[in-house]
Amino acid sequence: MIAEIVSVGTELLMGQVVNTDAQFIAQRLAPLGFQVFYHTTVGDNVKRLTAVVHQAVERSDVVVFTGGLGPTDDDLTKETVASALGLTVELIPEEAERLRKHFETRGYAFTPNNLKQASFPKGAIILPNAFGTAPGCIMTAENKTAILLPGPPRELFPMFQNHVMPYLEQLSGNKLYSRELRIFGKGESTITYELSDIIESQTNPTVAPYVKTGEVSLRVTALCQNEEEGEQLARPMISEIISRLGDIVYSTVGESLPETCARMLTDDRQTLAVAESCTGGLITSELVAIPGCSTFLLEGCVAYSDAAKVSRLGVNQATLDTFGAVSEQCAREMAEGMRLSSGANYALATTGFAGPDGGTEENPVGTLYIALARPGETLVKRVSLFGERARIREHAALHAFDMLRRKLCLE
Ligand code: ATP
Ligand code: MG
Repeated sequence: MIAEIVSVGTELLMGQVVNTDAQFIAQRLAPLGFQVFYHTTVGDNVKRLTAVVHQAVERSDVVVFTGGLGPTDDDLTKETVASALGLTVELIPEEAERLRKHFETRGYAFTPNNLKQASFPKGAIILPNAFGTAPGCIMTAENKTAILLPGPPRELFPMFQNHVMPYLEQLSGNKLYSRELRIFGKGESTITYELSDIIESQTNPTVAPYVKTGEVSLRVTALCQNEEEGEQLARPMISEIISRLGDIVYSTVGESLPETCARMLTDDRQTLAVAESCTGGLITSELVAIPGCSTFLLEGCVAYSDAAKVSRLGVNQATLDTFGAVSEQCAREMAEGMRLSSGANYALATTGFAGPDGGTEENPVGTLYIALARPGETLVKRVSLFGERARIREHAALHAFDMLRRKLCLE
């Protein structure tokens, strides 16, 4: 089946908004077996949108529209697509009632233009919007399917995943089983080189590498009839990838490094405290972003100045005078001091030069010391990073999490 994506919005045409909706949808259509031959972007204009709809249904079986489902005058996708398909839009009383209640419970005024969002062609499938007021919908006419989705990605992504994917799986007769392998410790080019034969000979399952901040993820996707068959198809490839790459693969279920650490700490009933200098709270903040972190996270301290390292964490002034704050010795004392004062089983500490200024001949900008204090030992790792300040800080946090999860793996 041929599929097409039509993105509606003048802000997209002008380059004010990046078309992440089209990217998200296209990435999910192709693996289902849809041939995506066209992406079209058109402004909020009835005449031009009508022409695009005619052209799209002429050459494609499924057309996914994004944007222009809201209540304002420039939101005209639904009315225009329906009329181009020869369908009439009518008010759906249940939808109008749902909308009125939605506004009432939030204390917002319900104005008549909002009723636009409760009108659909007869027989259309209405897709609930868990994160906004405008529902999506699926219209069919003469064997052609038009899927209309709201523009904001935080509304579209879950709607697509929860309501459109099952519909498309049924339409195509295919199901997708997908697993995300997350890797920290090698770059994309090295990984794709080491897996080149697998990547080149892939059929089903497929494997696709993506670069994320400081890490690489590999998505293994199997086209299948059901979950069980998908798992069976994907398993040998996942095992082969792990046997080649080894323990740099830290998750096979798409967990991030902080999530992996959080899960391990929770499962092992361990506690953690964090003392941060150059990462300035980044590590603690990423942990706090995870629901349930209170089961393991005791505290975080940003000890930026030398004086704070002494007064808050008990680092020896003599250590700072002799070795400086960016040193193995200082990192060690930060972690040990934090562990002692917090009573946590584990304590992580970071100290480094994030740049652009600072650094010494021995420890240039980008040098980072990470310490992990745990019962019976304190480990210190020296890492050399490059790039601008924000990048160095983000990567520093990832290295700290990686150090922690490696140690927790051995527990
Ligand atoms: P709303 O009810 O918020 O008006 P809508 O369905 O009418 O939603 P639009 O008015 O077209 O959608 O777009 C609303 C916002 O959603 C845009 O300002 C933009 O930030 C974002 N957006 C729209 N289309 C896209 C897209 N293709 N990719 C990424 N973001 C988009
Ligand atoms: Mg709008």
